[in-house]
Formats: sequence, structure tokens, C-alpha cells
Amino acid sequence: MIALADCNNFYASCERVFNPGLIGQPVVVLSNNDGCVISRSEEAKKLGIKMAVPAYQIEKLIIKNQVKVFSSNYALYGDLSNRVMNTLAGFTPSLEIYSIDESFLDFSFLPPPQAADYARQIRRTLLKNIGIPVSIGIGPTKTLAKVANKIAKKQGTDGVFVFETAAATAEYLQKLMVDEVWGIGRQHAAWLHANKIHTAYDFSQAPAHWVKKHLSVTGLRTKDELCGISCIDLEEFQSRKKTICTSRSFGQPQSQLEPLTEAVATFTMKCAEKLRHQHSAATELMVFILTNPFRSELPQYSPSRVIRLPVATNDSLELVKHATAALKAIYREGYLFKKAGVIVMGLIPENEVQLNLFSSSGTPQQRRLMETIDRLNRHYGSDTIQLAAQGTKRKWKLRQERLSPRYTTNWKEILVINVGNEKAPDGDNPQPPRPRTETPES
Ligand SMILES: [Mg+2]
Repeated sequence: MIALADCNNFYASCERVFNPGLIGQPVVVLSNNDGCVISRSEEAKKLGIKMAVPAYQIEKLIIKNQVKVFSSNYALYGDLSNRVMNTLAGFTPSLEIYSIDESFLDFSFLPPPQAADYARQIRRTLLKNIGIPVSIGIGPTKTLAKVANKIAKKQGTDGVFVFETAAATAEYLQKLMVDEVWGIGRQHAAWLHANKIHTAYDFSQAPAHWVKKHLSVTGLRTKDELCGISCIDLEEFQSRKKTICTSRSFGQPQSQLEPLTEAVATFTMKCAEKLRHQHSAATELMVFILTNPFRSELPQYSPSRVIRLPVATNDSLELVKHATAALKAIYREGYLFKKAGVIVMGLIPENEVQLNLFSSSGTPQQRRLMETIDRLNRHYGSDTIQLAAQGTKRKWKLRQERLSPRYTTNWKEILVINVGNEKAPDGDNPQPPRPRTETPES
């Protein structure tokens, strides 16, 4: 058996962990620059707030219902995610982290009748130790575990659901639209409907050769998985990314080279850190800046430049040097830039880098310097050590007017408990007024 543990309304739940005044209240979390709703508590869902709706469109609803609104706090969500995943890892010999709030767990060591109780124990542990509610779906395959998880999330269950028999599975699949099956995209779903295949059950019964012909071997795998034949293995080790991108829209449009340089240097530092984390080196780097295409009354200019690096590298200093040079080459005065980004490409394993006689990057000293920077930033909070090129003014930084503290990753923002006569923080005042100088991880 395979279990899928998925945190409920993850970002909204994270906001509640250190702010219990929010329990029972409608909570929403907004995307970068406080744009759209990306996470909703159950209470917010009941008010009819839809996923991805722009915040300004629900302003009245927010005020009328006293909805608590937060900017996304990825430092907090990332750290709580790590804690959830580490706890889950203690319950299974093999775990696949699928996303920031979802993991597949190998349950094959358990006799099937014990699976549900074991999952309930996991739920209780996560709730007690971390404060995050999860739903757990269990089935003979990953695809069925995904379906089981959907059922576990519905009201009336205790957050755990197991597909115990083939007959019970078939009954549920008859009620599930094929669009909702993991791995069936919108186009394939539309095509299946046109061919009279409407439910997950219909799809599971379709002839194998027909599925393979029209939906390729991937579609066939999904069909087999729905029939209880496991075809998609747990991937314990996430494969290395082929490209890494860090980009942001600015809180305010920028026309000057200096803030753009600071932004590009900062994004490059993030890319370099991610490269080192997965032990890769980049052979190419791309820098882009964009004006706002929706402001057609303003002059438009959205250039990019790809640089082939002389030596593949994951050295921050080397990458920032090339990225800022590329930016300087494409920058023109007289435009309002809305967004910038850096992409590192052509990634190779760092131990396969061919050193160049004239390059200082990749030397043992350079590598030790990068390791030290990573260690300090991990320990004391990201951006503790930064390059002068990243600047200190951060004019370009995200709009995050409703950001909660990074309770778990920054000493200055640790939870404060007032005792005695002082008023304790409550749900109406979810953002202690602490100055912030940094942007979250992408
Ligand atoms: Mg979730």
C-alpha cells in the first residue's frame, strides 16, 4: 500500500500555528506582491472566496467578514514543510516528497487492515508536534492514493481514507470525473469526454491498446494504476532540476540601472545557492527584464540575454559577475521595468566541471567560501551574508504589506509571549510591527 499525506490548506494552516487567534476565522494567503488568493482556510472557502481570485476583487467581502489576509511568508512555510516531512520520514522506510505540502509514503510493510490506524497516528503526531492538519489517502498505487486523499479531505471523514477492496474502489471511481484523476491533463480530459469516457472508472475500463495509442504510455500507466496495478514508483531522491529560475515582479516599477542590478544580483545568488544545493553547475545563464505589457500607453521593452559561461560554475561571485554584465548590456533608459529574472541552464553535475587554466572559480578556496556562505545563511537566515552588488535599499522588493513574522527561521522574529498585565497578541492583530528588510524565497 501507498499513502499520500497532504497538508490541509497548507499556507493558511501555517499562519495559524503561531497565531491561534486565527483558529475558526477565515484566513487567506496572497501570492507574491499581494496579488491573488493562493491558500484559503475552510472558513474562507465557505464565504465563497475562490482560488486565484485577485485580492482587489474581494475587498468588500474581506472587510465585511473580517477575513484575515496574509502576504506569502515562504520562509515560514518552507521551514514548517521541512518539519512535516522529517516527521513523516520517521513513519516509513521510504518517502517521496512530492511538493511543499504533499508526500507519498511506502506503507507496504504494514498489514493492510492496520493502515488506517497507522495513518491516524501520523495525523495526531503532526497535529500535536507541529500543529499542521493533514489528510491521508491510502491505496495500492500512487494514483489511487491520490484519489483516496481527495475522499479523506471531504467532510464526514476523519482525515483518513483507505481503498480496501477492488469493489469499493470501482464504486468510488464511478463517481469521480476523469478530469480529476492525477496525471490526466485538461486536453486529454476533453478528448476523453468527446469519446464518451467521463468517469475515472470508464477510463480504467478502456482498452489498453486504445489508451496507449491516444494517450501514450503515460496514459496507459495511469489506467493501470486506477486498476490497482502499481506502475509509478516512489522516487525517494528528487531528480536534479535541468534549469533553475528566480524571478520576481517588483513592488514598484523600476527605471534605473542600480535597483535592477541589485535585484538581478539577488536573484542570481538564489540560483547559485540552489545549484550548490543539488550539486550542479551551470554552463549558461540568462537574464531578462520586462516592462508591463498591460500598460500599453507606456513604451515597451523586454529584452533578454543568454551568456555561455567560460567554465561551468555554481560560484555566486562568478555568476553575479556575468549576470550583472548581461543586464548592463541589455538595459536602456526611459522604460519602467516591472519584473526581472535569472535562469541558469545547461546544468551538469558539479564534479564533472572541466576547469579552465585561467579561472579562479571552482578552486578549493572558492568552494570553501561558498560552503561557508551557505552554512551561515542557513543558520542565521537567508541573506545574512550577501554581496555588495545586492545593495541594501531594496527599492525593487516585493509588496508584502501583510507579512507574518518568520517565527522559526529568524531570531529577531521569534514568537513573543507576554505575561502579566500586558495584552496578549490576538487574532485581530496578526502582524506584530517588526521591520523587515528581506524578500522570501521563490
Ligand atoms: Mg495541500
